[in-house]
Amino acid sequence: MSGNQEWISRGENVFIGTYSRFAAAMVRGEGCRLWDADGKEYLDFLAGIAVCSLGHCHPAVTEAVCRQAGELMHVSNLFHTIPQVELAELLTENCFADRVFMANSGAEANEAAIKLARIHSDPGRYEVITLSGSFHGRTLATVAATGQPKFHQGFEPLPEGFVHAAFGDPKDLEAMISEKTCAILCEPLQGESGVRPLEPEYLRSIRELCDRHGLLLIFDEVQTGMGRTGTLFAYEQLGVTPDIMTVAKALGNGLPIGAMLTTERVAASFTVGTHASTFGGNPVAAAAAVAVLRTMLADGFLAGVRERSHYFVGRLEELVERFPGLVNGVRGRGMLLALVLTDRGRELGAEIVGRLFAGGTLINFAGGRVLRFIPPLTVSSAEIDLLIERLAGVLAELEGE
Ligand SMILES: *Cc1c(COP(=O)(O)O)cnc(C)c1O
Repeated sequence: MSGNQEWISRGENVFIGTYSRFAAAMVRGEGCRLWDADGKEYLDFLAGIAVCSLGHCHPAVTEAVCRQAGELMHVSNLFHTIPQVELAELLTENCFADRVFMANSGAEANEAAIKLARIHSDPGRYEVITLSGSFHGRTLATVAATGQPKFHQGFEPLPEGFVHAAFGDPKDLEAMISEKTCAILCEPLQGESGVRPLEPEYLRSIRELCDRHGLLLIFDEVQTGMGRTGTLFAYEQLGVTPDIMTVAKALGNGLPIGAMLTTERVAASFTVGTHASTFGGNPVAAAAAVAVLRTMLADGFLAGVRERSHYFVGRLEELVERFPGLVNGVRGRGMLLALVLTDRGRELGAEIVGRLFAGGTLINFAGGRVLRFIPPLTVSSAEIDLLIERLAGVLAELEGE
């Protein structure tokens, strides 16, 4: 016995129960496909939670990782390494930022951003305002920053210095600004809580509030960054530039790496000894990220993502027309898309995801209100058609029951 059942039961015996996993032990991936230990094939519209954006085992990334693993795996940040320098150059050449701090995850990149915002600001200014429905990570500070009470329960007292403003309401945000405030932190498009875009006008008013009150604007682009919304970073489409930006998820296409990016002026507040990470920007992870960036920046890559996104949105809209009792809208940008469920649809959200899984298709139910689609950015229109066909099948089944 070496199939799913064995690995699942052995896993259930030893893991702490923080996750509710799909009943599959994945053993191999290629492009938008995964295979489990029983040899069953899946069409993957989850991409490891918006991480494997070039698809599973993209040859350029695999080659870079293998090459670097044979050369140098780790020396710590007591030294410079070639992949880390190349990565920092590529990142800063392609966004507003001049300087980079390397981390290992989204939460860590956000921790660095929060620490930088505090140390950069006048004494007594330490409070960060975030938005309700936001998601910024699971460490104590980033969970405190996260504007969803369900993630706080049982972990109190949370670190001080975070307040949450109502989503979409610039007046509420302004009312929360005090002599203690140092920054406003938000996702340009909330991913985890159900693919909720912040309107460009709202984002502009946030930028304006920051300028007027001398606050730093931090964009958490951990999910929206690295091409996910059709441009390398989501802020490029919004006419609003932050002072600090965090990225992670797709940066290494599966290798754990994150980065906190900022301007020369703000970066100057982080001096020797103020912040550090043993593994941050590890050469193997950085080599993967360099391969990711070079691939995404190649001619036509991001334009292709936008084109197929447009096609995908059109096909999702057909489902809204066909199944109005279950789904009533499409939202998101690029390849961070969602079908909004009706009240009846919400009750069936987990069931829809479960039936698709049984049929070999992976999506997820986000924020208790939408079906979220975050495939590899390389997904083909034929794969989009296959997803739509299978999803339509499940929706038709449920509507008939
Ligand atoms: C996933 C996510 C994080 C947390 O990243 P980890 O790598 O899991 O720590 C933070 N912010 C946003 C917007 C995310 O989507």
